[in-house]
Amino acid sequence: MSKGILIVVSAPSGCGKGTILSEVLKDEKFYYSVSATTRSPRTGEADGVNYHFLTHEQFVERINNDGMLEYAEYCGNYYGTPKKEVYDKLSEGKNVILEIEVQGAMQIKKKCPEAVFVFIAPPSIQELKRRLNKRGTESDEVIQQRVSEAAHEISFASQYDYVVVNAELEEAISDFRSVVRAQELKSESQKNFIDEVLKNA
Ligand code: 5GP
Repeated sequence: MSKGILIVVSAPSGCGKGTILSEVLKDEKFYYSVSATTRSPRTGEADGVNYHFLTHEQFVERINNDGMLEYAEYCGNYYGTPKKEVYDKLSEGKNVILEIEVQGAMQIKKKCPEAVFVFIAPPSIQELKRRLNKRGTESDEVIQQRVSEAAHEISFASQYDYVVVNAELEEAISDFRSVVRAQELKSESQKNFIDEVLKNA
């Protein structure tokens, strides 16, 4: 069986990343890698579903045992990708999605250059502000903080292979699928097929 594709996705909060990915993940060919974190679960989050919630000591032990493909400190907590699960799923032929922030994505770029890197961006800062305000859950100050954080993250977008702009949801989902399809059709991914064709020449 041919190996699946490793897909690294980053996006500032408020870009609709969750909605796009949940649609894409309806296809069984895709697998969402559940990260480990030292942050506390939010209401409604379950261990092993949203994250593997670890203590600081457990997380450091995983790092020392070479159990993390990448990890980063973000807003005072550790976040990391469990290595074994990712490699197991790739060898089963699944397309594995890592939803991670930019520092982690840059580590994967060095370790796994064959991965495809996708940045999901808002159509504009004004629209991002509007979406964050619409949630109605945060103060103006917190929203301003998130907008500054988003601008910082967007400044890394050029390090990614593709930028999917989420102006219109259906279009963004279709663009995301096109990126994965283009990656599947790359000549290095088609090597087995080409060998097979030539064998019968
Ligand atoms: P949150 O606490 O809101 O769930 O996530 C905060 C940030 O951490 C998000 O940008 C999310 O993409 C990122 N993140 C989640 N899991 C990982 C991971 O395994 N590694 C890295 N580097 N970032 C992660």
